[in-house]
Formats: sequence, structure tokens, C-alpha cells
Amino acid sequence: PERSPSLERQAIIDLSAIANNIRHLREIAAPAQFMAVVKADAYGHGMIPVARTAVAAGAQWLGAVHVSEGLALRAAGIEVPVLSWLHTLDTDFTAAVANELDLGCSGWELEYIVAAARELQRPARIHLKIDTGLGRNGCSRENWPALVTAAMEYQDQGLLRVVGVFSHLAVADEPQRPETDEQLDRFREAVNIAEEAGAQLEVRHIANTPATLSRPDSHFDMVRVGLGIYGLSPFADQSSAALGLTPAMTLETQIAQCKDVPAGQGVSYGLNFIASQATTLGLIPLGYADGVPRIATGGPVRVNGITYPVVGRIAMDQMVIDLGPEGRAGFENGSALGAPAVLFGNGADGGPLVEEWAGAAGTVNYEIVTRISPRVPRRYV
Ligand code: PLP
Repeated sequence: PERSPSLERQAIIDLSAIANNIRHLREIAAPAQFMAVVKADAYGHGMIPVARTAVAAGAQWLGAVHVSEGLALRAAGIEVPVLSWLHTLDTDFTAAVANELDLGCSGWELEYIVAAARELQRPARIHLKIDTGLGRNGCSRENWPALVTAAMEYQDQGLLRVVGVFSHLAVADEPQRPETDEQLDRFREAVNIAEEAGAQLEVRHIANTPATLSRPDSHFDMVRVGLGIYGLSPFADQSSAALGLTPAMTLETQIAQCKDVPAGQGVSYGLNFIASQATTLGLIPLGYADGVPRIATGGPVRVNGITYPVVGRIAMDQMVIDLGPEGRAGFENGSALGAPAVLFGNGADGGPLVEEWAGAAGTVNYEIVTRISPRVPRRYV
């Protein structure tokens, strides 16, 4: 078999798919502005290349949860507006303001952001975050009027500019549920309170991918889209293809060993799989250290146009697929060694999708791609 050590295990990232997904989603969101959410290393796709692609495809904003992520965007020379919205007492607000990051603020951060603005003698740009029902970060409704008043006082002193009000939805991936309506009502109420207090908002924003796709009334001035730009569907009953999206990540490797075993052979730790007949096993050099969930036994691996299941436990570095009793047929020289093996990709050739791995692992597509670890080289095409 051909040897290509640098490509033995790789996550191929299709940047043109990401660009196309963004253009498609922008059309759906227009006239609202578009924030490409590139936190968490762009859901495993690589923050800097994805950010550059997103900006070139027309995203006006980037979303990075942590200030450290926003600073990494700035260090890479990316100049578009960036919002960072999850902070701790040790967050470097001074660096954030110095680097012109927009900051989410749900309450306690206000004093810290103002201190940074004073130190730098320049106003910080903030987006006040209201918890409209998710129960996660964001200001509670009771404390909202006081937060708005405090922020507007600092704005009057030239220390802040309140440029945004935002919130996050809890059940937008289940469009039939009523809670999204309640969250939107509370959001409008919070926006009104801010505007009545004199805030001149550039952007009011609450929509994530599922809301962008299913709730035009949630778009306001901007949508914040993560999952969709990577070509994945947030809905259990709708595929990427049905939404006009193309999955951008392909996880590919080569079979690292091809071995015949007799009936009764146990496979991998715990010997949880016992071959019921003589069969051929293929060794896949990816495991949970690469981010493939240990629990995802049964997950699909495509080799030579056929999809085989993972048998036995997934280990740290490797897993095993059952090629079947006729497993050597169809391979050159009767061995699968070196054959390309795809865990998931864009599905164009009928190959497995991220969602099948999510199903095998009892999780969501978000988690599968986001957890593909740095040990797997990314190759951009
Ligand atoms: N906005 C906020 C505040 C988020 O935390 C996230 C991600 O969880 C997003 C937007 C993007 O969500 P999605 O990937 O569903 O588009």
C-alpha cells in the first residue's frame, strides 16, 4: 500500500463547504447581520482558518466565548467585530478592551469592564445579556432594570458603549415547543427596557442555528450561527442536505492491520465482542484520545464503499471493525491494510455521517466534531 505518514489520520476540513453554508445561511438571515460562531476551535474545525473563511464569505461578526479566544483572533490579524461572552474574575478585561473585543455582560462583569476602560481611557463596547429562560448565564429579569441603569450611567461617563442586548434560546432545536415564544417575548421586553433607558443598540440578537432556520421572528438585527456553518443540522428529523447544508469535516484514516480470527475470538478490552464465526478484523488507528467517544461501539466506518461497524470497546488509540468472513475479498492483494477508512464525512457518496456517531455515542453532532482532539491533524481543502 502507498505510504503517506502525514495523512495517516486526518480531519479534512472543507473550507469551501463552510463558505457555501455561510452564504446560504446569510440569505436566510438577511437583512439581519451574521455572526459566525467560532468558539471551541470552531467546533473542532480550526478557529483561525474558519474565521478567515467566514469573514471572506460575508460574516460581519465572529463569536468567541472566551476573551482568550477573541485575543487569538486578533493576534491572527482578524479585525471584524468579535463578541466574547463568558468571563471569570481572572478574565483579562484590559486586554479585551485594548484589542477592541465586544464583551457580553450579565452583571458582575460591569465593574471589571469599567475598570479596564478607565485604565485604558477608552470606552468598552458591551452587549448586555439577559437570561430569558435558559437559566444559564445572563442577567435575571429581576436584576435587569438595575443592570441597564448602571450600564447607562457608565455610558454617560464615557466609559462604556452599550451596543447590544442579547440572550440565548433553550429549545430552538424543537420548534414545536412553546418556550421559545416566551423567551422571545421576554427578550423584546428586555430590549424595550434598555431602549427606554436611552441605549442606542446596534445589535439585538438571540437566534442560534435552529432559530435562524426555523424562526424568522427571532432574527432581530443579527443571528449567531455555529453548528450550521459547519454543515450540520440542529434538528433530529432534518438532515444537513434537507437544509441545504454540506458537512465540512471528514474524519479519515487508513486500516492499520488486517487480521483473520477464528469463531470465539474476543475483541478489545473486556472482550465484549465475541466473533460468532471466523472473520477478518480491520484495525482503525483512532480512539478516544483522538476524540472518538469510547462508548460509541457500533459506530460506522466506511471502507471501499462498504460501511462496517466498530466491534468491541473503543480504546485510547484504536478500535476494531469487523470486515466479515469474506472481508478480504475486494481488497488488492486480499488485504485491507492501508485501505482508506472514513468515520464520517459529507455523505455525498452514501458514507457515514456525524449524526450516526452521535447516535452510537448517545450525544449530539455538536459534541462529536468539537471533541476531535488536536492529536488529529487538520488538513484544509
Ligand atoms: N450563541 C451562544 C450564546 C452560544 O452559546 C452558542 C453555542 O452554543 C451559539 C450562539 C451558537 O449555537 P449553534 O451552534 O446552535 O448555532
